[in-house]
Amino acid sequence: MPHTSAPNFPDSPTAHALPSYLQADHLGPWGIYLQQVDRVIPYLGPLARWAETLKRPKRALIVDVPIHLDNGTVAHFEGYRVQHNTSRGPGKGGVRFHQDVTLSEVMALSAWMSVKNAAVNVPFGGAKGGIRVNPKTLSLGELERMTRRYTSEIGIIIGPNKDIPAPDVNTNEQTMAWMMDTYSMNEGATSTGVVTGKPLDLGGSLGRREATGRGVFTVGAEAARHIGLDIASARVAVQGFGNVGGIAAKMFAQAGAKVVAVQDHGGTVMKESGLDVPALLSHVAHTGSVAGFTEAQALPDDAFWDVRCDILIPAALEQQITAANAHRIQARMVIEGANGPTTPEADDILQARNVLVLPDVIANAGGVTVSYFEWVQDFSSFFWSEDDINARLTRIMKEAFAAIWQVATDHQVTLRTATFIVGCTRILHSRELRGLYP
Ligand code: GLU
Repeated sequence: MPHTSAPNFPDSPTAHALPSYLQADHLGPWGIYLQQVDRVIPYLGPLARWAETLKRPKRALIVDVPIHLDNGTVAHFEGYRVQHNTSRGPGKGGVRFHQDVTLSEVMALSAWMSVKNAAVNVPFGGAKGGIRVNPKTLSLGELERMTRRYTSEIGIIIGPNKDIPAPDVNTNEQTMAWMMDTYSMNEGATSTGVVTGKPLDLGGSLGRREATGRGVFTVGAEAARHIGLDIASARVAVQGFGNVGGIAAKMFAQAGAKVVAVQDHGGTVMKESGLDVPALLSHVAHTGSVAGFTEAQALPDDAFWDVRCDILIPAALEQQITAANAHRIQARMVIEGANGPTTPEADDILQARNVLVLPDVIANAGGVTVSYFEWVQDFSSFFWSEDDINARLTRIMKEAFAAIWQVATDHQVTLRTATFIVGCTRILHSRELRGLYP
């Protein structure tokens, strides 16, 4: 797993140069995002004059989150909420709890949300939040106090019409219930629409939990059709076996594919004839990791990149596929369930080797698409059936993917650049229509 660098803090900004913390610092996540933006600028036509807006987050808040630990001492955690762009609507994006979270990472994740939300044409800008903490070291009570204090601290910039958080790495429905309750207590009125990914009994949506994995499968199946790859006989390798990788693996297995290798934070398992995915999911539910699953062979973690497969699904953290391992990847297609798993150098290597990369900004957009449905349902207090939700999700993902495929074909660019062309054009068109205030 990557170790991201510590954030650089702002110098005094000069009139034209980007302040240092916004510049491409070696290969941090924000630097990677900036390189991706630079690749799209030549395709933006006259809107390119607004492109600088993509290179600066609209608003970034750093908060101190002090809590009482169970042992009576006080601990301080650093929290962030970044609103990258709100030209198309309120900020939208998850909150992650992870020991490697940095400002640079949250800025990049918020920017990828802007592009993703525009690519699937949901009426949101992009935002992201996080706390630099290893949540596995906290008791349930400590986790609740930290979540509530963080929510209260970012309460000045979130709200159902301002910025709507959701789950991400190491956060879940319970986290969202605490966030919704804390915000509602501070407002003096129950406000279900302030977060999405909530439990069903608190205004959550059917199908939200599975939505990201379902979207990964949907675009994967569409792309497979385009390149003549038969899902029913495909070999799949998955990194990350949580809400995204676990569900995607299950759906590929249900479609007949063989899930031959799975890696998570605890280890790597492999089975040539195909893993029993439901059995592996229940092993992870009991033990917390794929390690020790007896119906498979254990692999050294680094050997994961050499596994013979047709489809590779990175569904964990950023910067997993790099110049150091991209040439080893055997797959014909990489589907980015995670945000930012492939560096620009690795993108170039994979393109040269004719490996198709379905980028995060479309491949994992199913989650936020159903978040949009949840937000709409909360506003109207009218809840849809699961069939309705899945049908609408599938339609949006297929149509968005088809449009992106067309742009990639027309301009002879990668699917990542094509998705950025579609997303950034929509963002900057809204920017231009709204104009500058004052
Ligand atoms: N954290 C998810 C993502 O990266 C979902 C965000 C949301 O639903 O707002 O897309």
